[in-house]
Amino acid sequence: MSKIELSTPSELQSATDAQIEDALRFANPMVLRALLYQLTADPELEDIPLKTVPAGYFERKVPANDADTAMLRRKAAEFLKAYRDTGAGPIDIGPRDRLPASLRLMTGLDIRQDAFGLYLEELAIDPWARSLEWSTPPAPERLNKFHVVVIGAGMGGLNAALQLRRAGIPYTLVEKNAGVGGTWHENRYPGARLDSSSRSYTHIFGVNYPYPNPFCPWPENQKYFDWVADNFDIRKEIVFETEVTSLTWDEDQHKWEVRMTGKEGERILRANAVITAVGFLNRPKLPDFEGMETFEGPSCHTARWPEGTELEGKRVAVVGTGCSGYQVAPEIALEAKHVTVFQRTPQWLFPVPGYRSPFPPQVSWLDRNLPFHTNFMRVGIGEGFGKVTEIDPDFSDPHATSPANKRARDLSIAFLEEKLQDPALVAAMTPPHPVWSARAVAVDPEYSILDALKRDNVTLVTEGIKSVNRTGIETLDGQQHDVDMIVYATGYHATEYLFPMTITGRDGQTIEDLWAQGGARAYYGCMMPGFPNLWALYGPNTNGALTPASFHELVTIHALQCMETLITEGKTAVEVKSEAYWRYNKHLDEANRKRVWADPRAHSYYWTRHGRSATQNPFTGVEMWRYLRRPVDDDLRIT
Ligand SMILES: Cc1cc2nc3c(=O)[nH]c(=O)nc-3n(C[C@H](O)[C@H](O)[C@H](O)COP(=O)(O)OP(=O)(O)OC[C@H]3O[C@@H](n4cnc5c(N)ncnc54)[C@H](O)[C@@H]3O)c2cc1C
Repeated sequence: MSKIELSTPSELQSATDAQIEDALRFANPMVLRALLYQLTADPELEDIPLKTVPAGYFERKVPANDADTAMLRRKAAEFLKAYRDTGAGPIDIGPRDRLPASLRLMTGLDIRQDAFGLYLEELAIDPWARSLEWSTPPAPERLNKFHVVVIGAGMGGLNAALQLRRAGIPYTLVEKNAGVGGTWHENRYPGARLDSSSRSYTHIFGVNYPYPNPFCPWPENQKYFDWVADNFDIRKEIVFETEVTSLTWDEDQHKWEVRMTGKEGERILRANAVITAVGFLNRPKLPDFEGMETFEGPSCHTARWPEGTELEGKRVAVVGTGCSGYQVAPEIALEAKHVTVFQRTPQWLFPVPGYRSPFPPQVSWLDRNLPFHTNFMRVGIGEGFGKVTEIDPDFSDPHATSPANKRARDLSIAFLEEKLQDPALVAAMTPPHPVWSARAVAVDPEYSILDALKRDNVTLVTEGIKSVNRTGIETLDGQQHDVDMIVYATGYHATEYLFPMTITGRDGQTIEDLWAQGGARAYYGCMMPGFPNLWALYGPNTNGALTPASFHELVTIHALQCMETLITEGKTAVEVKSEAYWRYNKHLDEANRKRVWADPRAHSYYWTRHGRSATQNPFTGVEMWRYLRRPVDDDLRIT
């Protein structure tokens, strides 16, 4: 099992000086600075004046002077040419204790010593840094009797399966779909694409995976997950087209009874432990408009886009304007006769140049030929999300919650004004809630929903929907909108974690019983008291703090370390103590109350009817890493 290797040395060896210099014009100067410093310790790289510039929703630091940027490119070219001329052989990352300084030079931020472990892992110098290393070799008879069921073969489940295999722990992976990929197996609507960086959308073992775009469309994301399944030979261990319907804890045996239904009928597996990797945006939510079933044309949720749909000549309604709605409507508009966008609430839009384009070939060349380019490019370090989502008690503004939140709002409104040039349309597209109190949407400044709205074949309807009928949609003002197809971009059962499985833990307590007050919660996003030997990937309050890949990796290593204790010490159950669960959740709820999603103007799945968030994580990545990286013995009951 290996990570993807970079190009053979021959590609760099045959590169001309001009080719190297051309490629480096496309390099991120701050990454060059860190990388060169790490490899050469050149003191000239240390003191470069920086300035802050907007970057999508956030801000980032860049060299203040063009001369310094040119100097960085020149030094990088000298380095690469010398490396080429000496054969471009294996190269070491250099002293590990220089890495904090190198990362500081890349971000312009201080990295505290106790945070460095996170960034070292994120750099993926060691692609297996989040794999289990047994502290003592497990007795084979105990190891072989231990069996884990993993539910779901998306990003989380595939990693869990791979890490279990590397640890030698037997497992079965159960997946309701016919293929791997989860979100990207299901979301194949036109325009479906990542809106966070593809570079951060790999596991650490996939650091060199050659994603072709900075923000990949669904087929490329799907290819990545197919690569994980095939490269690491996981597919053969997956039970496809089989859905887990219930989990029941057997207190006598200290095992989970896993009931499933699928192409082979009903089955029950018994497992010592279960890892759920069922996603939280996996169960599409349709609205309940009167008359929906009477519509005579095709209709679908975005996550159920029918393959081969012909749009030419069709009048299409898009209902809902979250990320999916804003992605799908402009793409449909390029083909269909007419698109009517039904918008209840607009969302904040942020221009990301190059969002819909592939990487220039020079960037992909750097990925293959500049040592450690992929490693440094994938590390996201910043205070950006923390600042833009903060409620600053000393900041008073009718629309924003902090200076950074206001700056983001101003930037987005300036973008709306520039693109739309129409005050009425700008007003219709200005969300009533502060930035990031609901999911903000990344868009390409060259073509997005805003350009689509200016097309002759697109109509924006902000009036509420009264009902659906045989030929289309009637709005509350009594107007009829006849269409040939309805696309529901209406989101997911996001706050109903582990839905619709029935999960019964100790003493007959169900997960609904545990979550009856306040909605879904978990200890560190993954463990629940009364539900031993069960870990949730992408569980409650894991949206934010870390990328999904990092969260999945950290919860998985946490779970595997707990399993290690069970196996090596001959124990059978590990469970989080109720006090630890509530202590963490009290702390989490307090912290969430200081985040923009607690703002009373916000209406989104980020905040539930219980007056708290079941989805959002208010902590920093470093805090979550510290919580998860090693299980805390005092918080757990092991029997
Ligand atoms: C349209 C869309 C765009 C997104 N864009 C981004 C983005 O840009 N950046 C980002 O970070 N995140 C994004 N996300 C979030 C995305 O869900 C995560 O990034 C990631 O894919 C989650 O991986 P996962 O394995 O936890 O869950 P999923 O990918 O949802 O996979 C869950 C798997 O579990 C299976 N499953 C569920 N229940 C059962 C059951 N009972 N029995 C058997 N199998 C079951 C499902 O079939 C599925 O294969 C997006 C989500 C959507 C829907």
